[in-house]
Amino acid sequence: MALIITEECINCGACEPECPTESITSGDPVYVIDQDTCVECVGSFDEPQCAAVCPVDCCVKP
Ligand code: SF4
Ligand code: SF4
Repeated sequence: MALIITEECINCGACEPECPTESITSGDPVYVIDQDTCVECVGSFDEPQCAAVCPVDCCVKP
């Protein structure tokens, strides 16, 4: 139960501080979501915050 970031990511960094479980880090070539710690924001928010703030909608369910 975790979202992924696709290659459409433009490395804007907007998602990283929004994650309640600190699962998002800058990667190469694009940002990455830790598949072991992402909980899809369950218990913290009504919707995945990374997906909510991403300007190119590249935080998606695999
Ligand atoms: S869905 Fe929520 S917990 Fe998972 S990476 Fe995005 S902000 Fe973090
Ligand atoms: S908000 Fe979207 S485009 Fe920006 S770093 Fe995160 S995944 Fe990439």
